[in-house]
Formats: sequence, C-alpha cells, structure tokens
Amino acid sequence: MADGQLVDGYGRVHTKLRVSVTDRCNIRCFYCMPEDNPEYAPRDDILRFEEIVRVVRLLLPLGIRKVRLTGGEPLVRRHLDRLVEQLAALEGLAGLALTTNGLLLARQAEPLYRAGLRHINVHLDTLNPERFRFITRCDALDDVLAGIDRCLELGYESVKINAVAVRGLTEEDIVPLAHFARRLGVTVRFIEFMPLDARNSWERDRVLFAAEILERLSEAIMPLVPAPDADPTAPAQEFVFEDGVGRIGLIASVSRPFCASCNRLRLTADGKLRYCLFAIEEFDLKRLLRSGADDAEIQEFVRRAVARKWEGHEINTARFIKPPRPMYSIGG
Ligand code: SAM
Ligand code: SF4
Repeated sequence: MADGQLVDGYGRVHTKLRVSVTDRCNIRCFYCMPEDNPEYAPRDDILRFEEIVRVVRLLLPLGIRKVRLTGGEPLVRRHLDRLVEQLAALEGLAGLALTTNGLLLARQAEPLYRAGLRHINVHLDTLNPERFRFITRCDALDDVLAGIDRCLELGYESVKINAVAVRGLTEEDIVPLAHFARRLGVTVRFIEFMPLDARNSWERDRVLFAAEILERLSEAIMPLVPAPDADPTAPAQEFVFEDGVGRIGLIASVSRPFCASCNRLRLTADGKLRYCLFAIEEFDLKRLLRSGADDAEIQEFVRRAVARKWEGHEINTARFIKPPRPMYSIGG
C-alpha cells in the first residue's frame, strides 16, 4: 500500500476530507437549492456506504485524519448511523464530524451518538421564525432548536452553529445568535454568503462581511478577542468574548480567502473527488471504485488529483468562474 502524504504543488498537506452522503435535501435554502426541481444524481450513482468506507480507509495512510459528513442533508440518508459506526471504528481517524440542517436531529442525535459521532455542526441562520421560513422555504425552526438541545443533553463534545450571513437579510440575527452561543455554550460561526446558489442570485454586495460582524458584536455585546486555542489552519477565525463566555467563528471565504492554508479534499455524493469547493475540474473516483481498481490504484489516483490542485479560487477577481454545480450538489 502506498504511503506518504497528499501534498499539492504549493506544498499544502491534505489532512481533511468532506464526504457528501447525499445530494438530496428536505429544505430549500435559497443560497443553496432551487425552490423547485433540484437536479439530483440518479440513485445508482450515489456512493454506497462500503465505497465511502473504502475511500476513507485508503486515505488514512496518506495522511487524512479528519472526516466530515455533509450533503445535501446527511440525515435524509437512510441508516446513516451505520456509516458513522463503520467510520468511527477506523484506526487512525482522529475526528469524525457531521454538518446538518438539524430538522431530523432530535430523533437521530442519539443513534448517531451511540454510533460514535461526537462533533456536530447545525445550520441555523436566524432565531426569527419568519426569517427562518423565508430563507429555508419551510417552517421548522422549533425542530432545529430541539435537535440542538438534544445534542447538548447527550453530551456531544462539540456543537457548533453555522449561520450564513447575507447582507440585507441577516444583520438583525447576528446579536441574538451570539447571545444564544453565550447562553448554551455552543460556538456560532458566521459564514459569508458564497456564489454557490442554484439560481445565480449571488452578488458581492449581498455578502455580509466578517469584519462588520465582528464590529457589530463588539459594539452590541462586548469586545471579542482571538481564541487562544484556535487552529490557525481552520477556515474559521475564532474569537471569544472578553468575559470568556461565548465563542464566535468567522468564515470569511469571500473577503479573506483561506486558500493558502487549505488542507481539504471533497468527495461528492456521486463519487467525484474535488480539491476545492469552487473547483471547475473534478475526478471520477466512483468509476475507478466500480471498475475493480485495486487499493494502490485508488491511492495513486487521489495523489494525482491533489497534485493538480490550483492555488485558490478567484472570487475577488474578474476571472472567477462559478462552478457548474450548486452547493447542495457539491456538498458544503
Ligand atoms: N444540509 C446541511 C446543512 O445545511 O448544514 C449540510 C450541507 S450544507 C450545503 C453545508 C453548509 O453550507 C450549511 O451549514 C450552510 O451554512 C452552508 N452554505 C450553504 N450554501 C451556502 C452559500 N451559498 N454560502 C455560504 N454558505 C453556504
Ligand atoms: Fe439543504 Fe443544507 Fe442546502 Fe439548506 S444549505 S438547502 S439545508 S443542503
């Protein structure tokens, strides 16, 4: 079996893999999904659990240490806890996490915890029911809140909230979400709206910038200081309020891209390997998996894909080309 790390042409070492387990979703956030007729991959094209586990197992000797399951909405994939159980049992995997919209979480938090999941990110942009409905085109704020409560009751090691920040829409949500973080002891991470929506409605002036969020929170609550234990390679810059209560993350993908320290790869639900959320090219790992390739061939294929990784996305330049797949289809 081939050993060694997954290093690209810019010297970046890859240690994290995001695996989309489905492109289906039970809601329709406007910045991710079209309201009607999302284009889903045919069911036969979706990677089976044993294929996902094989890929992760083969990437561990190449330096992948952390895996995050995402989608679409991962909790709509049947028997997800069985996948979690198999991944959690892999020797050498240092972290297994999941990102969910939380709608089905109150019911699934416990089987997932029993299967070995300890880290969960719940997507919640607002505590205001009307805005929640406007953003997601569905009426389920209480279900998401119940899911978060359930994770806290069960003792998940980390519960983080992902809030997409959209100018002209979510300004009023920032302070209430920060109070929510302070009250419950969860981390709230604000993510700048990125050009990955299905209807091409993104414009730069709809991005609520991280720097403004920081300023707003410091004025309305109290100053934030850099978190002493923050991971410098993580996309989120982390802060804590001066009194030590409440942790805030800022993911400034648009205003302050973190490409130079990017250490992530992505696997789409239909088995395409991607070296960037915004990549234009992708690599058909599923075809290889289903053509009887041996382990060494699969590892070599991934190595070659990583070697082709570009320096970074160019959102802030006129050269930027939006990837053909929207967020739900890539896996966020
Ligand atoms: N369905 C799950 C969820 O909503 O968390 C997992 C998949 S979703 C694509 C992953 C994350 O992407 C979400 O938590 C949301 O915060 C983020 N997201 C989706 N569309 C986005 C966009 N256009 N810009 C920035 N973040 C986005
Ligand atoms: Fe579904 Fe998540 Fe996309 Fe919202 S952001 S539509 S919950 S996949």
